[in-house]
Amino acid sequence: MSGIKSRVLRIGEMGEFAFIRSIQDGSHFSPEGLIKGIGDDCAVIGPYQDRVFLITTDLLVEDIHFIWDRISPVDLGQKAVAVNLSDIAAMGGIPRHLFLSLAIPPAMGVETLHSFYQGIKAMCERYDTNVLGGDTSASPDGLTINVTAIGEARGDEVLFRSGAKAGDKIYLTGTLGDSAAGLRLIKEEFSAPAPLAAVLKEAHNRPQPQVEAGRVIAQSGLATAMIDVSDGVLSDLGHVCGASGVGGILFESALPISNSLKALAEINNFNPYELALSGGEDYQLLFTVPREDAGQFETIFQENSSSPIYCLGEITGEEGIKIVRPGGVREEVKVEGFDHFSGR
Ligand code: ADP
Ligand code: MG
Repeated sequence: MSGIKSRVLRIGEMGEFAFIRSIQDGSHFSPEGLIKGIGDDCAVIGPYQDRVFLITTDLLVEDIHFIWDRISPVDLGQKAVAVNLSDIAAMGGIPRHLFLSLAIPPAMGVETLHSFYQGIKAMCERYDTNVLGGDTSASPDGLTINVTAIGEARGDEVLFRSGAKAGDKIYLTGTLGDSAAGLRLIKEEFSAPAPLAAVLKEAHNRPQPQVEAGRVIAQSGLATAMIDVSDGVLSDLGHVCGASGVGGILFESALPISNSLKALAEINNFNPYELALSGGEDYQLLFTVPREDAGQFETIFQENSSSPIYCLGEITGEEGIKIVRPGGVREEVKVEGFDHFSGR
């Protein structure tokens, strides 16, 4: 015996994204009808005539994704559905059905669970989506929620993370950082007058999937790539750039920041742009459009969608993400976003 113990690599050290990459190879044994497996917002299968199915799944774990004291059961139900529909929206799809599985601590009140389902059903009604089934189990510790959502689209409409090209403009469908600010207010790390706090907490607890905007972007036929911003704009732009083999430039002064976030930043003396860049759970759509099509795209979008759009920057041929600060200084940024195992 050498006396040297082999060191166990813990997932906490490896990180969520490296772990996913490590299990990706050798996962696909039936290539027929498989358009996209691991590595995008949804898996894509088909085509079935001119349609494809989009499938996505997400976990919400008590004390990791939510804390009971800080979210109502109705909001939790709505959020569980919203985060999955956001991944369907990110492919340009129409949500259709979902499966909902729960591991429930036996002491949990049935009334709480019914309120949770009220939120689930309200969101399903809003987006014409059916709960088709699921599974129910006891949990030794805390509530765990798993939602699997199924959507559809025409095969030629679907947008992947991998289609961005150098010279494309980078767009976003809404403001950044409100949800991250709301979370910090909920955790009492920031303070604000009640009406301002309510607006930002709502951004965190009641995200809205951008399904309508996603459809308009996909149907325009002009966008090249799309993702929903769940981990933070830098991280999610990083996923698009990584999958597309390109880089990106973001103009800090072009980042859309709400007046609520600006007001909170003034009261609490922090830089709202930093929160906008790395904060997560915005659930806006980030997408790319070739520069030469941008004018035509903006006209189509404004005529067909009630959502705003903001141009944040552009895709470059050189890998890595750079941010142009207000004075014009270009900084290479380390891509950060929420990684479940690094805790940031
Ligand atoms: P999103 O933030 O859009 O939900 P994720 O970062 O969670 O996307 O997942 C990225 C990709 O990795 C997706 O294709 C997802 O299905 C896949 N994935 C995540 N975890 C696992 C896992 N444990 N096993 C297989 N695939 C996974
Ligand atoms: Mg996503």
